[in-house]
Amino acid sequence: MNKSDSEKPAKSLCSRNKGNDRRTFLKKAAAATIAFAGAELIDLTAERPGTNSVPGGEIPWYRRITRWGQTNISEKDPAHYDITWWRNHWKDTQTQGVIVNAGGIVAYYPSHVPLHHQSPFLEGRDLFGELSRAAHEDGLAVFARMDSNRAHEEFYRAHPDWFAIDASGKPYKAGELYITCVNSPYYNEHIPSILKEVVELYHPEGFTDNSWSGLGRDSICFCDNCRKSFRDKTGKEIPGSGNWDDPVYREWIHWNYTRRLEIWDLNNRTTKSAGGPDCIWSGMNSGSISGQSRNFRDYKEICRRADIIMLDSQARSDTGGFQENAEIGKLIHGLLGWDKLIPESMAQYQAGRPTFRLAAKPEPEARMWMIEGMAGGIQPWWHYVGASHEDRRIYHTAGPVFRWHKANEEFLINRSPVATVGVVWSQQNVDFYGRDETDLMVDLPYRGIKNALIRGKIPYIPVHADHIDREAGKLAALVLPNIGLLTESQVDSIKRFVEGGGGLLATGESSLYDEWGDPHPDYALSDLFGAHTAIQDKTDRTSTVRRRAAGTLHTYFRLKPELRKNVDGPRTGLEPPVNGVRHAVLKGFDETDILSFGGMLFPLKTDPEAEVLMTFIPEFPIYPPETAWMREPYTDIPGLVLNTSPGGGRCAFMPADIDRQYGRYNLPDHGNLLANIIRWAAKDNIPLKVECAGLIDCNLYHQNGRLILHLVNLTSSATWRQPVDEFIPVGPLKIWIRPMDDVRGKNLKLLVSGDKTAITTDKGWCNFTIASITDHEVVVIS
Ligand SMILES: [Zn+2]
Repeated sequence: MNKSDSEKPAKSLCSRNKGNDRRTFLKKAAAATIAFAGAELIDLTAERPGTNSVPGGEIPWYRRITRWGQTNISEKDPAHYDITWWRNHWKDTQTQGVIVNAGGIVAYYPSHVPLHHQSPFLEGRDLFGELSRAAHEDGLAVFARMDSNRAHEEFYRAHPDWFAIDASGKPYKAGELYITCVNSPYYNEHIPSILKEVVELYHPEGFTDNSWSGLGRDSICFCDNCRKSFRDKTGKEIPGSGNWDDPVYREWIHWNYTRRLEIWDLNNRTTKSAGGPDCIWSGMNSGSISGQSRNFRDYKEICRRADIIMLDSQARSDTGGFQENAEIGKLIHGLLGWDKLIPESMAQYQAGRPTFRLAAKPEPEARMWMIEGMAGGIQPWWHYVGASHEDRRIYHTAGPVFRWHKANEEFLINRSPVATVGVVWSQQNVDFYGRDETDLMVDLPYRGIKNALIRGKIPYIPVHADHIDREAGKLAALVLPNIGLLTESQVDSIKRFVEGGGGLLATGESSLYDEWGDPHPDYALSDLFGAHTAIQDKTDRTSTVRRRAAGTLHTYFRLKPELRKNVDGPRTGLEPPVNGVRHAVLKGFDETDILSFGGMLFPLKTDPEAEVLMTFIPEFPIYPPETAWMREPYTDIPGLVLNTSPGGGRCAFMPADIDRQYGRYNLPDHGNLLANIIRWAAKDNIPLKVECAGLIDCNLYHQNGRLILHLVNLTSSATWRQPVDEFIPVGPLKIWIRPMDDVRGKNLKLLVSGDKTAITTDKGWCNFTIASITDHEVVVIS
């Protein structure tokens, strides 16, 4: 981790810049390559023309620019695009780089590449050129935006063999446009020609591409280019349909992933050879792993290649909440490194549900999405569709957030997370376990765990299943939210972690499937769980689990031991107390012997030393009320099994899909139970305690000599469905943080309110009180 990056660029470039003569500079700037330095200007043309790099090779632009803006041009904009107005907006929002539409589906400059369709509204105007020049003159970097995945009919008629076709030979279309095939010369020749032309004419700092990865998984292309490539690589024919149990379809999935990486590499080779080593190409990527899977974008491999991730995740989903933005920031940094940047397109218009491209999103809703992104290490990038708006409120949201970001950016980048809980994920699990039901099988369980951690105010990081060994030293517990698919080496990593004393919570079908999603006879982690599946028919088990996952049943758990006397016959609930002491994971449930569940369970065999703390109560009728009594109040089907490894690691196995239920229904019992189990598995080794009413997303980071706590108040969003249009302040917040060796814990700053508050240290914990939080607060402790 390179901590110095964050502090160096802003200071050193600004100071070097002070003596610049603006007029001399502007003369040179027209054809120049410029590196950004805040709102000031630097002329870098003399040293390395066309390379877009700081002289001396210090820090390239894609590692320095932290505030982006995008006016996504509509076809009609060339007629009335008011560049002067937008330059003022760049300045007002402290924007350092702009994403400008260049070409692909539509060219916004006079292109000479054959069949590169120019906007009919250009009428001779070179809009991309004018905007690039204006941005460069203002000291901004330019990310030339491409959209390379479809074309107009004229193009299709000229090269029908460059387009994707279905099994009957019909071209795939999106509206009026024809979808190009990723294995055709459209990607190998046409797009590289455009990239070269744009570099030569305009010298943008780099390229980004809106939808670079072509046809998604739901549509199989049967064109000759695809047939030949697949045959050359595998010796087989393209599979006729999507069947996850078919080995050829599985190969087709891998072949598709590989092709997208080839396109990533080809485009980078093209732009770098034309524009220098820092003229990078970075296709946009999604905020959803399921979305990445459906589009064959391998996040881990992309992050291995990428210098920057351009994240296209513009608004919260109806179910996910603002917290998804901090989550995806942390997840991508886990792959990319925390010293690189992840700007994210943040819609200022009413994106999400419903979408209105030309209406302002309610300001609190837009602001909260931006803030939660920053809490996860994401950089802001305002995004408008169209260059003029009659709803002028749209222009007032970004400014305050961006100006606050500029004032405090040294605390918002180049930091590493401080968390002792890691939530495991992998794209392979999304693909081959999630299959066509990723929401149900993968996303909902993950969301339940994540929301339980946030509700419990427990900092966590997403951990890729291949990175468990790398992260193990920092973590006290791992959570496997129904991670059905684990490779052998991933299983070994988890075993090593627990044998070394680490804790584990695994839910649902975790470790029950191999790398292709084929069922094992027993859990690969059964030794850690102290539990084994007792179902012989693997295929039947799998299909029943998938069928049941979609529904909600009238089922319960029985907590053990019961705290009321166990009697035969009908129970009144008023039986006298018995002397029982419950385990810590059942804390808070003393006034109940049952918990609602909603899912279903299969019998398990448990090892003698394993402890079963909850048993399953099978389904019984809800309606009519006369029938709503337990048919089978007692079973020995385990719902929660605790086990301790020889190395002292605590393991909790919940075959029950409580996480999926919590992700779906938000019942507080489920969230509290999950948080209890995680705290127990982590042996209470959690570096943060926050006491307050309200839902707060707590993200803790370390920078050289200081701790940074980013608290985001989700209370309003938890109260209302989107959009939030009013904040509900919460407070006071009593906070305890365990300091680190290089953090003295003597000084405290609040970067949002600016309030003063005392910090004291007691028994190894720093503690302090924050009077109130409206939207968010950033605490810096040094
Ligand atoms: Zn094809």
